[in-house]
Amino acid sequence: MMLYYNLKNKKERVTFREAVTRGLSSDMGLYMPEEIPSPGHDFFRSLPEMSLPQIAFSIGGMYLGDEIPGPVLEKICSESFNFPIELKKIGPGKSVLELFHGPTAAFKDFGARFMSRCLGYFTTGDDRKTVVLVATSGDTGGAVADSFAGVEGVDVIILYPSGRISPLQENQLTTHGGNITALEITGTFDDCQAMVREVFTRLDTRDKIRLTSANSINVARLIPQSFYYYYAVSRCENREPVLSVPSGNFGNLAAAVMAWRSGLQVKHFIASTNVNRVVPEYIRTGEYHPAPTVMTIANAMDVGNPGNFARLMQLFDNEYVNIASKISGYWFDDDRIRNHIRDEHQRSGYILDPHGAVASLGLESYIRDHPGTEGILAATAHPAKFSEVVEPIIGEKLSVPSSLNRFLLGKKLSVPMKSGYHYLREYLTERYHLQ
Ligand SMILES: *Cc1c(COP(=O)(O)O)cnc(C)c1O
Repeated sequence: MMLYYNLKNKKERVTFREAVTRGLSSDMGLYMPEEIPSPGHDFFRSLPEMSLPQIAFSIGGMYLGDEIPGPVLEKICSESFNFPIELKKIGPGKSVLELFHGPTAAFKDFGARFMSRCLGYFTTGDDRKTVVLVATSGDTGGAVADSFAGVEGVDVIILYPSGRISPLQENQLTTHGGNITALEITGTFDDCQAMVREVFTRLDTRDKIRLTSANSINVARLIPQSFYYYYAVSRCENREPVLSVPSGNFGNLAAAVMAWRSGLQVKHFIASTNVNRVVPEYIRTGEYHPAPTVMTIANAMDVGNPGNFARLMQLFDNEYVNIASKISGYWFDDDRIRNHIRDEHQRSGYILDPHGAVASLGLESYIRDHPGTEGILAATAHPAKFSEVVEPIIGEKLSVPSSLNRFLLGKKLSVPMKSGYHYLREYLTERYHLQ
């Protein structure tokens, strides 16, 4: 059976069930699988013919062991990944992996849908209410809300930074009602993330509720984010492409590195960010300095202190030379991002969203430094999700996928809250009678 260790106290080992239902350890440590299992030659040989749910079932099975019975896991995989993913070549050496065809039009759907179903399986029969707390920089909250809306026995509480997410993103969080609550925090994403983390270490729920987190700090979100890299690399003309991942909290890149460590052929990784550049700077200089969050047009990556950096480092045995030889970092300001959306549209007709544009710029920069390279960039959101940014740049109206339309009409319901742990504590104590 695969066990998961706490990155802050490596002697503490828990099952997948415990790692998923707790989210974080009591000392705020992240859980990591104790080994990165390899699926073996037969898997890689049949990979080009496998569908995403089949890949998910094989890889997921390695990480979950027998904690979820095979037929249940199979159903979780086919239900979670019931939407297409696409790899499109848009220029020399450049393919786009479109990860935004899920119900909330961002790649967060992969992790949220898989996690919600695992959690549902583990909590069935528990008479306590499950409360899922999640801090969002824009897209996580929507994906988590969508996958838990109407699920009995589960409340979802989303913290989002007021005024720092797009109107459509806000609608996705605030219009569900029912078991979904949106807390509108006067602060940044890092403030929201800190509040959630403090609740986990400090709040005594007296066993009245089962509290868990749906951030990418939860391993059940991390693991499924590796599945699509197996799919993409096996469909790429080049046998060993480079991968450019637009990064904020660095869960998506950590998941890609896990896939590589399990035996997937990836030549090199590119950590592409907006001006929140703590990781590219670390890769360049060897010095790690978390910084206050800066707002950008690629807002889901506005993270100054990435939660998954510790996992990323662990995957490289915490050695700077290891990470710096496998990952290159590039960062771009809003002007570069805007210009690139316009240029790519003129060149190939392809419409990038601001996050995909960051990945595309990262890949182009790397190709410029290493001519002849072929790569895949992860397009993490549908451009229509950021139409107020993209439409003026390309001078065209974007058609909104039908899955997004349903969010445009709802009424905004949010609970305003100041930034700070004790406000959240008060709210939870009152709502769930924790005294
Ligand atoms: C969350 C998000 C990212 C950043 O992913 P991380 O795993 O936090 O690095 C990039 N693009 C979009 C559209 C996102 O929603």
